[in-house]
Amino acid sequence: MKKPELLAPAGNLEKLEMAISFGADAVYLGGKSFGLRSGAGNFSQEEMKEGIELAHGKKARVYVAVNVFTHNNDLAALPDYLKELEELNVDGIIVSDPGVFLTARNTVPTLPVHISTQANTTNWAAVGFWQEAGAKRVVLARELSRREICEIRQRSSIELEVFVHGAMCISYSGRCLLSNYLAERNANQGDCAHPCRWKYHLVEEKRPGQYWPVFEDERGTYVFNSKDLCLLQSLPELIDCGIDSFKIEGRMKSAFYVASVVKVYREAIDTIFSDSEKFFQKLPGWQEELLKVSHRGYTTGFFHNKPSKEDQRYSASTYIKNHDFIGVVIDYDSEKQEVLLEQRNRFFVGEEIEFLPPRRPFIKWSLDSIKDDTGAEIESAPHPQQLVTIPVPFRLEPGTIMRRARQEES
Ligand code: SF4
Repeated sequence: MKKPELLAPAGNLEKLEMAISFGADAVYLGGKSFGLRSGAGNFSQEEMKEGIELAHGKKARVYVAVNVFTHNNDLAALPDYLKELEELNVDGIIVSDPGVFLTARNTVPTLPVHISTQANTTNWAAVGFWQEAGAKRVVLARELSRREICEIRQRSSIELEVFVHGAMCISYSGRCLLSNYLAERNANQGDCAHPCRWKYHLVEEKRPGQYWPVFEDERGTYVFNSKDLCLLQSLPELIDCGIDSFKIEGRMKSAFYVASVVKVYREAIDTIFSDSEKFFQKLPGWQEELLKVSHRGYTTGFFHNKPSKEDQRYSASTYIKNHDFIGVVIDYDSEKQEVLLEQRNRFFVGEEIEFLPPRRPFIKWSLDSIKDDTGAEIESAPHPQQLVTIPVPFRLEPGTIMRRARQEES
């Protein structure tokens, strides 16, 4: 059995670093042009250069999303952009538009091309089409069952990538016009306003202002709001099937999210290969960890059956958040037995917290002292991203996450 690649999102340099130190074999990111995420979460050329050098230094690969659906006006700038990516030494580009694919094959023929999930590849003949055209890998559509995925694997020899974790669209892999119509923001240009998560009412045109509730069932009205995909428990089946890469969705998600999810999937994949019988023993602990990052409830999507109302979140459109990301370890002083932390959310002396190191189980800890950069004892650091030290009698690696449990949803 071949060990699959664990592929994580990298919305910025910090997330790229976190993803790799918590166990990703590869990351995917977007540049300032042609990536399917607008605004935040894209890398400048300089950031991309730094990220690629950092990743390659740790033997991780970097794929760049060029998966926008281009219009005629976009095409002129594309060849130069592709050449820049090749010069930056990216390990592959992710494309959806056949025009981008053709331009890439003609302009940078040795640069590996992965076919994005936005191309909606749902059968082995379509995979064969992309293979013959010269693609290195196909990212399968999320709307496939285990049986379909395995049949595609058996009938094709190209690399296959499958989404195992993250948000689901109610439309075919994000090819959706809801956001264009309702918010004038184009999902297919990476600017989705997520109207599928909104709460809908019925209005009769002669009675403006009267909002009638729409019920799919008694629980509520978020009729398009899918739960998030989680195929953790099905990893052994996907590995048996021979899938080459497991992808985690979420370039816009936080560093805490990326680190926590990558850590779980890393441990799960490694356990299958080192001691497969332990996989199901450890599964409940990993599932509990996945509940500590923001999510909308979990579903196995189309993997076992077609989704039903159980796979929708009718009660609210918000994320469930059980834990806060409150700090990240910068350094550890073994002589003083102190950890230097950068604060991310305010925390106080007396609180119970958890450390999440990259490659070890989490550690519960009680904060009995916080010092500022002058060494003065403080109750709490008043400024965001303030550096503080706290006494801890065990070593913590840089990048270790500090988190705190909370009860309410946000
Ligand atoms: S509106 Fe929802 S279903 Fe449509 S692209 Fe955006 S996230 Fe996906």
